[in-house]
Amino acid sequence: VTATLRPPTTTLDDVFISVKTTKHYHKSRLPIILTTWFQLAKEQTWFFTDTDDAEFQKKTHGHMINTNCSSSHNRKALCCKMSVEFDTFIDTNKKWFCHFDDDNYVNVPRLVHFLGDYSPREDWYLGKPSIQAPLEIIGKDKQKVKFWFATGGAGFCLSRALALKMMPVASGGKFISTGEKIRLPDDVTMGYIIEHLLRKPLTVVDQFHSHLEPMKFIRRELLSDQISFSYSRNKDEWNVVKIEGFDVKYDPNRFLSLHCFLFPYFKFCPR
Ligand code: UDP
Ligand code: MN
Repeated sequence: VTATLRPPTTTLDDVFISVKTTKHYHKSRLPIILTTWFQLAKEQTWFFTDTDDAEFQKKTHGHMINTNCSSSHNRKALCCKMSVEFDTFIDTNKKWFCHFDDDNYVNVPRLVHFLGDYSPREDWYLGKPSIQAPLEIIGKDKQKVKFWFATGGAGFCLSRALALKMMPVASGGKFISTGEKIRLPDDVTMGYIIEHLLRKPLTVVDQFHSHLEPMKFIRRELLSDQISFSYSRNKDEWNVVKIEGFDVKYDPNRFLSLHCFLFPYFKFCPR
């Protein structure tokens, strides 16, 4: 009886996974993704970049999309990429749009299982904020506008129902003009559109992780429950998942070791 109350089961093919990247990061960040989690979602994952790159076009089996957005790290360029990610998702018939950065590790089966608890026909904005209180900005007429946003660097997902409602302010390049209006980064613009303009709340999902959090505190027993991970480096200080496995010289960001911990049957994993 209770089974009938569950929304229809989600499969990997229901999910559109977009990864934001840039030409300067292809060689340094994409290979580790391609050898690890991309292998579990080759058909569903697309890379949004700012140049043509024959080498990686081949390595991703044609899954690199040149957004023709500028390759500089400014608001307009980043909102431009998000705008193309959004439009590309709308043009598919997928039920879920999940965005990640190119320094994320995505636990693909966990992501799919997690989305199964939600209906894509309802409005869902699933992700994790990186601040302790809602962002407050001063809008036109000097009124205060408060809203939450999911950090892009942790990854977030939108249901199709919500994405369709966002179209008047987010599709066909309108994501860029909305971003220009509030002059804030792409992930903040996403929160502004969803929480402020559409009045749909962010659902906080603790299993998404950006490198704004210390990765070493994620307990080993809980690693397989997490949806995303990240890494960063500040001089000689690495913020990485704490996991045994390959030598740090060979696997500095720990993604290979994490992958073998989660999926020990992979070819390159020791046994
Ligand atoms: N990025 C981009 N264009 C740039 C710089 C970065 O599209 O000029 C992307 C990058 O590929 C990554 C995300 O933006 O997916 C965040 O970049 P990064 O990790 O370097 O910076 P962070 O904001 O995390 O410090
Ligand atoms: Mn980053």
